[in-house]
Amino acid sequence: MRRLWWTGPGEVVWREAPEPEIAAAHQAIVQPIAATTCDLDVMILRGTTPFAAPMALGHECVARVVALGAEAKGLAVGQIVAVPWHVSCGACPRCRRRLPNTCSSFPPGAMFGMDVGGDFGSFFSDLVLVPHATEMLVPLPDGLDPAVCAAASDNLPFGYELTVPYLAERPGAEVLVMGGVGSVGLYAVAYAKAAGADEVVYVDTAPDRLERAEAYGARVVQGPPPRRMPRSFPITVDASGTDAGLRCAISSTEPEGQSASVGTHWSDVAFPMREMYAKGLSFYTGRGRGHPNIAAALAFVADGRVDPRGAITDFAAFDEAPRRLAEPRMKTVFVRD
Ligand SMILES: [Zn+2]
Ligand SMILES: [Zn+2]
Repeated sequence: MRRLWWTGPGEVVWREAPEPEIAAAHQAIVQPIAATTCDLDVMILRGTTPFAAPMALGHECVARVVALGAEAKGLAVGQIVAVPWHVSCGACPRCRRRLPNTCSSFPPGAMFGMDVGGDFGSFFSDLVLVPHATEMLVPLPDGLDPAVCAAASDNLPFGYELTVPYLAERPGAEVLVMGGVGSVGLYAVAYAKAAGADEVVYVDTAPDRLERAEAYGARVVQGPPPRRMPRSFPITVDASGTDAGLRCAISSTEPEGQSASVGTHWSDVAFPMREMYAKGLSFYTGRGRGHPNIAAALAFVADGRVDPRGAITDFAAFDEAPRRLAEPRMKTVFVRD
């Protein structure tokens, strides 16, 4: 089978790889039918992260189940499923706390499509072994187009996670999103609006992303992050990838407010601790929890409240992936015939 490798900035190739085989009863083999880049993949492909080539990429896809172990319950061969970015067991204490992104049955950080804690397969591939199928795979709701939902592994439920639970605690709260990394900030806008935020303000420099955020219902502010916004927000999201964006999000958070960052800061950042202390501020950062939010995020898509196409730049044939990813756009979805 083929597997896509990033071998250096501007260099992406298919390489032959051995086909995975079911070796344990709770495993499944899936075939990605629509795969896309996480915002982090785009940065890696452009060579702007500390990650080193070569790396087999891909951790966002919707797939078809092609084989199931005897103990993989609740699934059927041929079924269409979203596959979370992380690998997890579903049974350890952290998985039972609904934190499968930190599963203790695998090495720290273990995930698909990135050389963290080992090689667990990657989604720009013909086949992928899923170690705990029942616990990991999320059936795609009927009627949803897999190509539109390819980000259900990661960036789409991350947009949900950054906004919807906080809005449930503070209905109607206004939300600030510092954009820049790509689709995650846009999906945060889409979910915040869909979950009833009175206003979502989106700050970015890129005209294309600003246009997309506006289409999702944001009031957009074009330009680099100011020191702080003219007013403060109960909920702020840093999806800027810059120290200035992170600082602006924190400094623009209301007293006892909630600020979250999607990361991609590659060195330590000085926090305004005195200001955070004086205000009382909750801060979260992480890679997104993945599985626990996939079904909930897809429910917004199924009933038309969020349209993931607002952050998808284009669609292409799966075979085209090496050529197209040599110079990646923000979010190209690669679809198998
Ligand atoms: Zn990702
Ligand atoms: Zn676990």
